[in-house]
Amino acid sequence: MSATATRVSLAGSTGSIGTQTLDVVRADPDHLRIVALGAHSSVRLLAEQAAEMRPEVVAIGDDRLAGDLASLVPPGTEILSGPGALEAIAGMGDVVVNAVVGFAGLAVTVNTLRTGRRLALANKESLIAGAPVVQAARATPGAEIVPVDSEHCAIHQCLATRAWRGEEPRPRDGGGVEAEEQPDVRRLVVTASGGPFRGRSRMELADVTLAQALAHPTWTMGPKITIDSSTLMNKGLEVIEAHELFGVGFDRIEVVVHPQSIVHSMVEFCDGATLAQLSRPDMRLPIGYALRYPERLGEPYGVIDWSQLSRLDFAAPDLTTFVCLRLAYEAGRAGASAPAWLNAANEVAVAAFLDGRIGWLSIADVVAETLDSHDETKLLEVGDVLAADAAARRVAAGAVERRERTG
Ligand code: NDP
Ligand code: MG
Repeated sequence: MSATATRVSLAGSTGSIGTQTLDVVRADPDHLRIVALGAHSSVRLLAEQAAEMRPEVVAIGDDRLAGDLASLVPPGTEILSGPGALEAIAGMGDVVVNAVVGFAGLAVTVNTLRTGRRLALANKESLIAGAPVVQAARATPGAEIVPVDSEHCAIHQCLATRAWRGEEPRPRDGGGVEAEEQPDVRRLVVTASGGPFRGRSRMELADVTLAQALAHPTWTMGPKITIDSSTLMNKGLEVIEAHELFGVGFDRIEVVVHPQSIVHSMVEFCDGATLAQLSRPDMRLPIGYALRYPERLGEPYGVIDWSQLSRLDFAAPDLTTFVCLRLAYEAGRAGASAPAWLNAANEVAVAAFLDGRIGWLSIADVVAETLDSHDETKLLEVGDVLAADAAARRVAAGAVERRERTG
């Protein structure tokens, strides 16, 4: 292990992105070192990770598990617990990976940026729901966001090529913070696998089971994002994420369905040239990119075999069946608290679907009904974001209950 290795603090270490982040760190001890790990309640896995990685600090969100954790981690490891524990590890290290799922990741995002660190961002929900507050925090000296989400990592790579001309400095995080920046960019083209229900009509999707919705064709991910991929809400969230990360207006962000998941997204420039990033679908590439940027990982996680890859297909998304994508564009364009409401309603609806309380089609219905009651508020402080999220959750919970009663 090198003394100059990048010090990595990892919030959400026990999940899909978290465990893959540890794979990347394990494979590159000369350049990467874990200084903090954090999870919500998976105490045994967290302790195993701590025994292997020897972080200075281990954080557990669920207070009741602090004692169990203390008995399992190596002596001398500092333990933090409770609601502020993950926020605290966001103030450690050179790079903070936010691999928490859902709105619960807000504090990690905000604190990483406010303490002037690099945020390797997987947790898109925090950026979407808290955009005005996150953008303000992003202006802190030393703060930058390098996206882990594969599409945004692809766009970041395409945009980063541009900074290598002449004496211009490379933009620190490849994007601006104001909408309608990037005048030489004509379009961002965000690719979508289409999920397990690509090509199906709304009628055909009335009775889909949880197992069918969880069977993603190209990626293995946590349950929440897997359901979001089946409804295309994930792509909708990613459109808002792209807008916030790269400062490009919604009319210039297009979604295209690409079932092979090889082209991870594209940037079309004003002269008609399109740059794309292609690789095998493996999240360890974007994770490694966000940890090591502007350097690159020394070894690939698989390479494309061009003799086997006979075709790459592209098609327009079906907005009649996948209503969530349309709703996300609408909420993104409305701005202010609308994306926070969209995100909260979706989290409530997806949790209800995962619990077997509502059907798959009801996810979009709950989100639409919640957005119909959206009461626009300004998001100036974290407290405003929490209030908007809570208000939307109350409305969405009512929408779920009505559907449970009516079956
Ligand atoms: P997982 O469900 O696999 O993991 C979630 C992680 O978050 C776990 O470590 C979990 O801890 C922790 N967590 C859960 N609830 C809370 C909470 N209330 N407070 C703090 N931590 C909590 O999710 P994924 O890894 O799939 O996704 C993580 C994020 O990355 C999401 O925002 C997702 O959209 C994004 N993303 C994921 C991709 C993927 O391939 N998986 C691809 C692109 C983006 P515990 O185990 O203790 O519950
Ligand atoms: Mg993605």
